[in-house]
Amino acid sequence: MIYINDNLKFIKEDIENILSMQGRNKDSVNIIAVTKTIDIESIQKAIELGVRDIGENRVQELMEKMNVFKKNANYHMIGHLQTNKVKYIIDKVSLVHSLDRISLAKEMDKQAKQKDIIVDALIQVNVAEEESKFGLSVKEVIPFIEEVLNFQNINIKGLMTIAPFTNDEKLLRDIFRKMYNLKQNINDKNYENVDLEYLSMGMTNDYRIAIEEGSNMVRIGTGIFGKRNY
Ligand SMILES: *Cc1c(COP(=O)(O)O)cnc(C)c1O
Repeated sequence: MIYINDNLKFIKEDIENILSMQGRNKDSVNIIAVTKTIDIESIQKAIELGVRDIGENRVQELMEKMNVFKKNANYHMIGHLQTNKVKYIIDKVSLVHSLDRISLAKEMDKQAKQKDIIVDALIQVNVAEEESKFGLSVKEVIPFIEEVLNFQNINIKGLMTIAPFTNDEKLLRDIFRKMYNLKQNINDKNYENVDLEYLSMGMTNDYRIAIEEGSNMVRIGTGIFGKRNY
């Protein structure tokens, strides 16, 4: 498990280097360690090494890990969220990255009201409009935000995207740039109570490009824990 230490060190230094070239503060990117399929000992090790934010894409697995690590981590729901499972996690997650439809917003708002909390969420955008992925198209995002503004117990904190799995740097850059511009456009509208702070984009394969294009939240699994065994 020594490799987790090395991997984390490498990624942190790599990110700091990119940020210093951009003249950005060295801690201006939040690293979320994606722990899906990863065993408890490895995650424990990562937490001992300073990891605070962990991301899971399934409610069941997220709940198992919350049960073990409790207040020792902040939890991020990064995968598709079924409406009927909202109630299990709504008051335990720091951030839901995958708000992508009104029916989900409605249920999140309802559950948050019942628990008397405000839930922070990112809107998932499917920039490349891939069939296999969830998320709104770029042009759907602003009308969606205008609708979600009516839900008082949801606080929209930013945007999230999962880029296509490709080595086509130009394509990736283009996608991340569209996300950055979309975030700026929304903030320029000065909606009351909407000040998008986070751009959750960049995974092991593409976090460098994402950060170069303005990401401030990366979700890294393989780069920290190694290849997943499904
Ligand atoms: C699995 C996953 C990641 C991490 O992917 P890696 O390529 O292992 O870094 C990031 N985001 C989401 C939504 C994921 O499901």
